[in-house]
Amino acid sequence: MLSNVKVVLVGTSHSGNIGSAARAMKVMGLSEMVLVDPQCEVDAQAIALAAGASEIALNARIVKSLEEAVEDCGLVVGTSARSRTLEWPILDSRECGEKFAIEGQKHPVALVFGRERTGLSNEELQTCHYHVSIPANPEYSSLNLAMAVQTLCYEIRVAHLNQLQSHYSSHAEEEYPRHKELEMFYEHLEKVMIETQFISETQPSQVMNKLRRLFNRARPEAQELNILRGVLTAVGKSLRDKK
Ligand code: SAH
Repeated sequence: MLSNVKVVLVGTSHSGNIGSAARAMKVMGLSEMVLVDPQCEVDAQAIALAAGASEIALNARIVKSLEEAVEDCGLVVGTSARSRTLEWPILDSRECGEKFAIEGQKHPVALVFGRERTGLSNEELQTCHYHVSIPANPEYSSLNLAMAVQTLCYEIRVAHLNQLQSHYSSHAEEEYPRHKELEMFYEHLEKVMIETQFISETQPSQVMNKLRRLFNRARPEAQELNILRGVLTAVGKSLRDKK
């Protein structure tokens, strides 16, 4: 997913911003940078600010127009510090991250950033499917370019990690024992507790209920339940061996 995300910088004039944006991308696991009509070189200043991420700035694809930068992308989102008069589908920064995490699994996706002084033109904004604004202080809403890159790339990463996590936990759920297996475990546990005289067969107590509650809370996985069954079997065997 992350390798499908392109960060497109349009008309950047400070090379330091290209370097800082490269660094912002790399810490979030992104690597595809595209420079549209840059007004500066990827120079020593850019390399210095990129720190360990200079390869991203040095390998950035340079193109003449935004169209060229995003022609293979299935989703293009334009960023803007302020909402323009232009009515356009809007995403908040969190929704933007989620959309990238989902669609980035299917096709290349692009996040487009504007010029330091003037942002993206209306024409450029109109080539995007959605617009996103970081909800900054309304009286001072314009972030430094690389910091805007950082904030939105972070949202993409968090959404991506959440997705991996829920994928993992939905798999983990399949590893839980079935109800019937749990009931067999409780029967086995009760039998061993009676055999060891921990509880009495003739005087049922609350112990079994309390233990059920404990195991419900702990939600043992199938493998853990197998270990518990193994312990009970070993206890039962050692009791019989002693007789
Ligand atoms: N005066 C310009 C500010 C440009 S800041 C404008 O109004 O657009 C340079 C770039 O940083 C912007 O084009 C955008 O890509 C990004 N940026 C800055 N602040 C942002 C914010 N609050 N939300 C989203 N992107 C932002």
